[in-house]
Amino acid sequence: MALADAKRKARSVPSRAESSKPSKRQKTRAQNVSDDDEHVDVDASAVAPFLHAPSLHVLDAGKRDALRAALLEWYSTVHDARGMPWRKSWDETLSQPERAQRAYEVWVSEIMLQQTQVVTVVPYYTRWMERFPNVQALAEADIEEVNALWKGLGYYSRAARLLVGAQVIVKDFAGVIPSDPAVLEKKIPGIGRYSAGAITSIAYGVCAPVLDGNVHRLLSRVLALHAPQQAKTTLTLLWSAAAELVTDASVPGDVNQALIELGATVCKPRNAACGDCPIRSSCAAYGLPSFPSPSSDDIEDLAGTVEDLACTVCEPLPVAGGVSRFPMAKVRKKAREETDFAFVVWCGDWVLLRRRPDKGLVLVLWLFAFAPAPSSCSGAGSLFLVCFFLLLRVRAGAGGRVSPSEACIIRKSAAGDVLHIFSHIRKTWKVIVVHLSFGSDVGETPETKQGCKWVRQADVPGCNLGTGTLKLWHLAEGVGGPTTSDVGRAC
Ligand code: SF4
Ligand SMILES: [Zn+2]
Repeated sequence: MALADAKRKARSVPSRAESSKPSKRQKTRAQNVSDDDEHVDVDASAVAPFLHAPSLHVLDAGKRDALRAALLEWYSTVHDARGMPWRKSWDETLSQPERAQRAYEVWVSEIMLQQTQVVTVVPYYTRWMERFPNVQALAEADIEEVNALWKGLGYYSRAARLLVGAQVIVKDFAGVIPSDPAVLEKKIPGIGRYSAGAITSIAYGVCAPVLDGNVHRLLSRVLALHAPQQAKTTLTLLWSAAAELVTDASVPGDVNQALIELGATVCKPRNAACGDCPIRSSCAAYGLPSFPSPSSDDIEDLAGTVEDLACTVCEPLPVAGGVSRFPMAKVRKKAREETDFAFVVWCGDWVLLRRRPDKGLVLVLWLFAFAPAPSSCSGAGSLFLVCFFLLLRVRAGAGGRVSPSEACIIRKSAAGDVLHIFSHIRKTWKVIVVHLSFGSDVGETPETKQGCKWVRQADVPGCNLGTGTLKLWHLAEGVGGPTTSDVGRAC
């Protein structure tokens, strides 16, 4: 950075005292930050250039050794504080098969912990290990049973990937989870760089780094890195620091677990407990004043050294907010709004379920019948319902004993709306309860070629329904199925 540029930047530092009208860029930044949960405490209406040397973001050997020693000492006091059954002390004397078993335990726990809190995972993990105590037992399971054990944890694709992964390990690796993180990442479905590092470092003692959300935040603060979170340069710097921390470590799994634990329990997104932090003396963000850059007058005295302050990775920094200014706030995309009809169809005591379309995973979930809602429901909605029914009765009768031609709607009612948030979609289901009659009991009809089946009302919650589908079932159930006398009533 040229000295003239540095001066100009420093002199253009906006602050609320200097200007009550933020620039367009400042406005955008402020909106982005206020949208981001992790940075809710940061007032980003004023930012300042953040002049520092690129070396601020690199761990040298001296700093690494100090950090690692402090991390390990702290971890030895807290490693079993949260009662995680998968967390065990490193045991030098374990045989290779015992290490492979540890790898299975760590793998299952890491997959369950994705998007899910420890306290929720513990009972699921315990049940899972009772039923599938090793890779072989899991590989022989069927997806229905795996999904049933996973029910309530959400993100069912994780369970399917565990099953497929176990089958690959049995088939291609003689039932032994590989100890090479690159092989794990490349060959086993659902294992990325983070999981590969966690599994191999904790179970096999391999010096492989980890970088999950907690470690990303922690290292961003330790290195005072204020750059777009998922930018390639940012990730390269953070992975390099994580790798440096385990280089030549005697117990790399403990170093990684210390990082993960410290990020989760002390260096939290909001209200980081810096006063209790064992590494605060090595943390660049902790030592940073509210206004981090030299003033324009100071710049005059920095001639000849400004080039050394030319980090090109970081963005201007909010002038206030302490350590919560790191990592840089994400730009959150607004969730897309979508509305669908969800038809909960009863016939007597039976409810119609539909197999979720196969999305390339061996995942079986059951749904009700969905259809996109037209933008205006007046008139068009009724017409749509009738059309849908025509389609439905062909489907429902296709593989069973009932005759589609005898089907008729005996009652339909709107049960209300259910809102379900997917990662980037706010989905509203308009729940319509439809009572059908086929002139006879549908009974135990087999699943049709179209993936429809009738299930007794009492058995619906026991089917593998996703969390959102279960929500709308509870709403529809409140409206209630037809009484026996409804069945057979004329259309
Ligand atoms: S001192 Fe504070 S910001 Fe730095 S690592 Fe510790 S808790 Fe995080
Ligand atoms: Zn920087």
